[in-house]
Amino acid sequence: MTSGPAAPGTPSSSAHGPAAGARASRPGPGPHRHPGDGWVDCACGTRHWGLNGAAGLLLARRTPDGAVDAVVLQHRALWSDQGGTWGVPGGALAPEESAALGALRESAEEAGIPGEAVRVLEEVVLDHGTWSYTTVLAEVLHPFEPAATDAESIEVRWVAADDVTDLPLLTAFGEAWPRLRARLESAPTRPTTPGESPCT
Ligand SMILES: [Zn+2]
Repeated sequence: MTSGPAAPGTPSSSAHGPAAGARASRPGPGPHRHPGDGWVDCACGTRHWGLNGAAGLLLARRTPDGAVDAVVLQHRALWSDQGGTWGVPGGALAPEESAALGALRESAEEAGIPGEAVRVLEEVVLDHGTWSYTTVLAEVLHPFEPAATDAESIEVRWVAADDVTDLPLLTAFGEAWPRLRARLESAPTRPTTPGESPCT
């Protein structure tokens, strides 16, 4: 499920809103599709999505000299929390699921990101004690085009790193973006592996 790190409102409350018909017509058992889906009343005074915390994938494409050229962003469905803003694909972690595995699972489900095309670099944790959000930083191993592959997204695409702040961003992502970008820029680039074709 898509949901932001700060998450009052939907998607669970959307079942009672104007979009209820559209959501009810979707296949599957409804909003609570995964164990771990649900709201946490956090010590910070906000409700967050993800009984076991949540995670998202910030996937970067590099230029030949190693600079971050673009990242995959998700234009979030209007009925979602802070609907219409842009953020990274991700969602609630399942019980016992690592942040990296959860972020990759959600990214495959809602953004068509093939796990084998991704190399995880590091994780940045926003820890609220009773809840945490992990941004999994990663880079592409070979080119692909992401796409909105479920109703959580209006659009999913590569966004030039320099253009990210031109978009209306999910609040928490917008606050974290400068630091996350710096971490991506400073992460070691993919080592050259014999027999592996270069991705740029
Ligand atoms: Zn909190």
